[in-house]
Amino acid sequence: MSDVVQVLTDELGAAAIVSAERLRERATSYWNAAPTEAKCLVRPGSTAELASIMRICHAHGQTVVAQGGKTGIVEGAVSTAADVIVSLERMNELESVDTSDGVAVIQAGAVLQTVQEHVAGEGFLFPVDFGARGSCTIGGAVATNAGGINVLRYGMMRNVVLGLEAVLADGTVISSMNQMLKNNTGYDLKQLFIGSEGTLGIVTRVVVRLFPMPVSRDTVMFACESFAAVTRQLGLLKVGLAGTLSAFEVMWESFYSSVTAAGGPPAPLERGYPYYVIAEAEGADPGADAERFQRLLEEGMESGDIVDAVLPKSEAERRSVWNVREEFDGALPAYLYDVSLPIRNMETYVARLGERLLAWREDASCEVFGHIADGNLHIFVKPYDDGGHHETSDGIVYGCLDGLDGSISAEHGIGIDKRPWLGLSRSADELNLMRELKRLLDPQNLLNPGKVIN
Ligand SMILES: Cc1cc2nc3c(=O)[nH]c(=O)nc-3n(C[C@H](O)[C@H](O)[C@H](O)COP(=O)(O)OP(=O)(O)OC[C@H]3O[C@@H](n4cnc5c(N)ncnc54)[C@H](O)[C@@H]3O)c2cc1C
Repeated sequence: MSDVVQVLTDELGAAAIVSAERLRERATSYWNAAPTEAKCLVRPGSTAELASIMRICHAHGQTVVAQGGKTGIVEGAVSTAADVIVSLERMNELESVDTSDGVAVIQAGAVLQTVQEHVAGEGFLFPVDFGARGSCTIGGAVATNAGGINVLRYGMMRNVVLGLEAVLADGTVISSMNQMLKNNTGYDLKQLFIGSEGTLGIVTRVVVRLFPMPVSRDTVMFACESFAAVTRQLGLLKVGLAGTLSAFEVMWESFYSSVTAAGGPPAPLERGYPYYVIAEAEGADPGADAERFQRLLEEGMESGDIVDAVLPKSEAERRSVWNVREEFDGALPAYLYDVSLPIRNMETYVARLGERLLAWREDASCEVFGHIADGNLHIFVKPYDDGGHHETSDGIVYGCLDGLDGSISAEHGIGIDKRPWLGLSRSADELNLMRELKRLLDPQNLLNPGKVIN
């Protein structure tokens, strides 16, 4: 046992430590079945315990990687045999729900879906939502500034966090547990930690905004023959639904066919249309909301923009529509990308990407889907070839953004995976300021070293 593991065991007791040997029985992440490598995993039961873990690691020059549900897509939570892992799985309580202010205080190890279900029991909606909801943690979602399917209406994690508590590399506890919407008292320190992927501090507790639980929910899957028709429908639904449109997910035919092929979820609409959209609106008046929703869809059909549609009539039918978007494992393996760019440039981008992939090799293809109202596209590039040509594929996907005002990461973050490409989306001055911040908060480079920036 290394010195630092012995000191951590003496301080916290053996029950709080998972040994290197036992860690190798666990997968590296949701995406990577290789064994987890680390000196040990430590499971603090409180902020004070985490602070003492960090003080010990600081004194030993020990690197630390924070892990949540290990669902992150850019290898941000991956550790090496030289690291100590900190997991907040024991700090998973929903401490309080203030129903007058619509605010909850949550420990960072709580699973997203558990939080959603708990606050729903109090009549509230926690709107950040995406396919990994059953495994990812609030701390991981804060650290990656996760987005998902409701960003259009409620924003990303950054928009719903009011305050947080974080432990720095040297064990200092920064408690910035603001509970108000308004608090202009100098620099907004919580924003430093949101989206910093565990490189500036370990988030332990979070104050989040809650929203009234919608009474009505109307969902549709429809098909369009052109991207112009898709964007027209987005505009019409945004205006016609007076701000209650909460999701507008677009799937290109290539993605839809791939996911609904044998073994995947059943196809709610026949294959072969160029574009499929899942739109969802949430409101407060079931009868009037459904009538308005259907009237807008009828207008879409009369204009010819919508060429086929299915309206789920039960939660089970709604789930089967959403499964096409979320249960994409059957379409893997592939390189998964997450880029953002203005809607006006998306068609150009996808056409350019298809051409450059074919110019590279004739069996290369892309499957595209995404939260287009947020300017966010996800792309599967195939063939995967066991990861053999990752860099070439990255270069093509990111290179095609050139001149289109895009970003190499919309919502997944940078981690290790996108670090070499960060300079395509950030200026030299911005990167220097990021490095200065890292040096200030973590001068020994102990927190999640090698992630986001060098
Ligand atoms: C099926 C699927 C669908 C997904 N869909 C979406 C989507 O639509 N939108 C989207 O934005 N993302 C999506 N994701 C990825 C998303 O980023 C993660 O699911 C989630 O935000 C990470 O949470 P986690 O607890 O798993 O964190 P991990 O993967 O364990 O960690 C992610 C990063 O956060 C850091 N970290 C974890 N906990 C803490 C903490 N307490 N303090 C500081 N740093 C910490 C880690 O070091 C790492 O850098 C999806 C993932 C999957 C598997």
